[in-house]
Amino acid sequence: MSNKAQATGLLDSVIALVKTDLAPLASAIDQQGVYPADFLHKLGALGGFGATAPAELDGSGLGLATQNDIITQVGQECGSTAFLVWCQTACVGYLLHTSNLTARTRYLRAVASGEKLSGTGMSNAVKHLAGIERIHLNARRDGDDYIVTGSLPWVSNVGEEHLAMVAAAVEDGGYVMLVVHGNAEGVSLHPCPEFAGLEGTQTLNIRLKNARIDAGDVLAHPDQFNHYLSRIKPGFVLSQTGMGFGVIQASLKTIRESNAATAHVNQYLDDQGDDLSHALQQLHEQAHTLAAQADVGRAAVLDVLKLRAATSELTLRAANSAILHAGAKGFLMRHPAQRRLREAVFVAIVTPALKHLRKEIAALEADHLQTEAA
Ligand SMILES: Cc1cc2nc3c(=O)[nH]c(=O)nc-3n(C[C@H](O)[C@H](O)[C@H](O)COP(=O)(O)OP(=O)(O)OC[C@H]3O[C@@H](n4cnc5c(N)ncnc54)[C@H](O)[C@@H]3O)c2cc1C
Repeated sequence: MSNKAQATGLLDSVIALVKTDLAPLASAIDQQGVYPADFLHKLGALGGFGATAPAELDGSGLGLATQNDIITQVGQECGSTAFLVWCQTACVGYLLHTSNLTARTRYLRAVASGEKLSGTGMSNAVKHLAGIERIHLNARRDGDDYIVTGSLPWVSNVGEEHLAMVAAAVEDGGYVMLVVHGNAEGVSLHPCPEFAGLEGTQTLNIRLKNARIDAGDVLAHPDQFNHYLSRIKPGFVLSQTGMGFGVIQASLKTIRESNAATAHVNQYLDDQGDDLSHALQQLHEQAHTLAAQADVGRAAVLDVLKLRAATSELTLRAANSAILHAGAKGFLMRHPAQRRLREAVFVAIVTPALKHLRKEIAALEADHLQTEAA
């Protein structure tokens, strides 16, 4: 079977599962904070997290573009669950690119198949490295093990039986990236204050107190960290566009449905369905091109950051326009337009947030200008 046919077959099964197992839960996920664990396990069993893993590691090898399209399909029904799928697939990316074969062997198959669920607690480190905030986890090396202390305020897709992949500053310099077990000694999980959305993402505060992480659970030691981060970051950032694309497609649906009755007045709104749809198509094409480059470690980080920023902007515009098209109906709690507006805001505030992206883009462009001038 060709790759294209295989990707279409996989996407068709994802679409069918989303319809039967996720769509009926979307409101409960949003309003009652239901965590869709069963759906995640089933999606994993279908191959919904393993598109970037090669066949010899039990993945489909279809690549990041297909993984992104899976996240988009999930995001059309539920932005929270699309974020959970992103968390899981980001962890697959970390495990694929670690040079620690023990960690890869221990976890890759289990995470890619959805048997083991995993969060990624990398916002703090990514923001820290962009000069936005101080690092929250500190590690002391003990042989090839690390003893880690500190706390991450919010990490999604975690629990006692879950993993979390995090980074810490090392006492004698540099950073280490590690796999943490939710039920390990020295690790505790605490609820967060109530969120305005994304309540069903099992987002918890992780505290580590002298938690020993054994050498087999180290994803990158300090001398490997910079190279490792530059390898995983494009995939990490690019696959977040899938969440945005899902919310945009769902918003376009609301716009179409609303226009069936109220096009005569909706035509005066700023962001019309055709314009949004055209902009989405352009971003989607760019995402596919960059995803193919990211698969082989060749995506230019500036292009990735710009695409991610443009996706946040379009997601906000589309969700905003959708609720304006729907009018008072869209303001009802039972209508998805109000939920999508909150999901769209999340796309623009989850790390790298829109403001963070603009900061990094400005810094990289200033560097390029300086290099050209020199
Ligand atoms: C529902 C939800 C789920 C999330 N899930 C995850 C997850 O799975 N994994 C994860 O890693 N993160 C997660 N996050 C975190 C998210 O990615 C962002 O990092 C988080 O929302 C914080 O971003 P911010 O824009 O508020 O921070 P910013 O506003 O960008 O940064 C504020 C930071 O600057 C610091 N600060 C304030 N003043 C100063 C000063 N004068 N000098 C220096 N520093 C200062 C603050 O302490 C704060 O840390 C989640 C957040 C939410 C809401």
